[in-house]
Amino acid sequence: MKILIYPHEILSTKAEPVREINGQLQSFIDKMIAKMYKAEGVGLAANQVGAPIQVMVMDVTPSEEGPHPVVLLNPVITETEGTATHEEGCLSVPNYSAKITRPARVEVKAYDRHGREIRLEGEGLLSRCLQHEIDHLQGICFVDRLSPLKKSLFRKKWAKIRPLEEEEVKK
Ligand code: ZN
Repeated sequence: MKILIYPHEILSTKAEPVREINGQLQSFIDKMIAKMYKAEGVGLAANQVGAPIQVMVMDVTPSEEGPHPVVLLNPVITETEGTATHEEGCLSVPNYSAKITRPARVEVKAYDRHGREIRLEGEGLLSRCLQHEIDHLQGICFVDRLSPLKKSLFRKKWAKIRPLEEEEVKK
């Protein structure tokens, strides 16, 4: 499993909803969770590993509390409130971060890996991670949310620092 590097067409592809939960999906989810921890990310969307299906994994708990992976299938933002601006980065855009303004609080409806409906709501890192990963599933990368000026600065910088190909995150 490799993490795709921006810009890759699958990163800008809207993911298809999961319609069937089977053994193949479970093992894919397990691989995504392992990849997220190996890459030291707080979230990972299936697009980022080359599969445009609506699966995301995240763990926003402090690492000293041990792993608490959360798996969301077909997540939808059902409510937002306020705005907050915070620095964001992405495993598909290594060595780059930028301030992004998003709703401060969100409510999300999704399904867990067993197909049970779950609802999550929160602010701070939880809210930001949910929005960032749900964006990926819609084919949106956080750099797509930069202002036109910042985006042109990003493009210049990225042309110099971007890895030349999809690469396995080494750690
Ligand atoms: Zn990302």
